[in-house]
Amino acid sequence: MIERTGRAGLPSVDRVLQAAAAPIARYGRDMTLDAVRAALAARRGAGDGASVADIVAAAEAVLANLARPSQRRVFNLTGTVLHTNLGRAPLPEEAVEAAVEAMRAPTTLEYDLDHGKRGERDDHIAPWLTRLTGAEAALAINNNAGALVLALNALAAGRETIVSRGELIEIGGAFRLPDIMARAGTRLREVGTTNRTHLRDFAAAIGPDTGLILKVHTSNYEIQGFTAAAPTPRLAELAREHSIPLVEDLGSGTLVDLARWGLPHEPTVTEALQAGADLVTFSGDKLLGGPQAGLIVGRADLIAILARNPLKRALRLDKIRLAALEAVLRLYADPDRLAARLPALRLLARPRDEIAALAHRLLPAMERALAGLATVELVETRSQIGSGALPVSLLPSAGLALAPIGRAGAAVELLARRLRGLPVPVIARIEGGRVVLDLRCLEDEGEFIAQLDRLAA
Ligand SMILES: *Cc1c(COP(=O)(O)O)cnc(C)c1O
Repeated sequence: MIERTGRAGLPSVDRVLQAAAAPIARYGRDMTLDAVRAALAARRGAGDGASVADIVAAAEAVLANLARPSQRRVFNLTGTVLHTNLGRAPLPEEAVEAAVEAMRAPTTLEYDLDHGKRGERDDHIAPWLTRLTGAEAALAINNNAGALVLALNALAAGRETIVSRGELIEIGGAFRLPDIMARAGTRLREVGTTNRTHLRDFAAAIGPDTGLILKVHTSNYEIQGFTAAAPTPRLAELAREHSIPLVEDLGSGTLVDLARWGLPHEPTVTEALQAGADLVTFSGDKLLGGPQAGLIVGRADLIAILARNPLKRALRLDKIRLAALEAVLRLYADPDRLAARLPALRLLARPRDEIAALAHRLLPAMERALAGLATVELVETRSQIGSGALPVSLLPSAGLALAPIGRAGAAVELLARRLRGLPVPVIARIEGGRVVLDLRCLEDEGEFIAQLDRLAA
């Protein structure tokens, strides 16, 4: 029976609510009431009539949308493995389990079980970091940008920080070194030129106001040609002669030599320390393959100064990420099994042939799903590490290129949108009028194929 009431042929809110037991049970009365009112207002605005069932259905659709989490899992087929916008490194199961356990219950976050008194949260990760890097001491905070702010503020507030003009970097998301320095309360003292900075430039800039010398890994660009940089060991000697700390922001900073897995060499934290840096800062969620974190390792006296700074408290890590970080660092203790257990490394080291074989397997299913919509072709691609690591080296990879049938331009965007509209959204890249799926980061082949039949819808 279709009942219509009211002037515009619309039922009353009360009538609809009486028929809305299911959404009320599921989403609660307040949410359902809002959705019903919105559905009625929409019909009224359009001058349309509607039945009670129509309005309940419309409200349920709105509620289902609202109930869906805003942050959702996606398939990262962009070809950028550590994609900042997609949450960087996927975590290993060991870290996931540790994080879940830490979320559920009280933990020994700042509690020393042996002595039954207060402990230090950094004690969970410092022994691993010192063991893996050879540093005297270590601490962890929210991210590497924070690590830099903390180091600059704790060691050079009200004084000068000397940096080469070739290293005054900007990283995405409003992270520009000069701005960071200003906020940290240290004065930027630029030395050298964009392409060439010599040891003597640093020597000439050192004075009574010098707080620290900063070296920044130019992780997202490379200066080529007529270039010169002061070698870190010589810079470290100079800093030591003047009792000035040398801090190196390594950016990605790996704990192991990636060349072992056939990847291009990226400076390791140990190398930076051995070259003479007093403190090294790096990210937890870049090449390290862990949760977002900023790690600082180096001289114990300097780490102690940083630990006492109020910014350390403001930027500290929570128990969930600390648990995940500890689990990831533990994996590094066994480098032989690291590539098998650490997803970020596994994906980076994934052989091109394995990815190409996956592309071959997916081709027929993809063609079937897109019949009449797009043609599908196997392509060679090049993946990037991402997050600014190794900006100019690309990893040979493979994938599928989808060329929409019909009007170009908007059709490509529409196809990409269809992929993003799948239950687990597929994020691809658009290149030369085609949608390109780089399959390096696709591990759950079955789940990917299972949702393809919805593409035509
Ligand atoms: C990525 C990066 C940062 C910022 O690290 P976050 O962990 O994202 O805060 C700082 N410095 C360098 C050189 C970087 O590459």
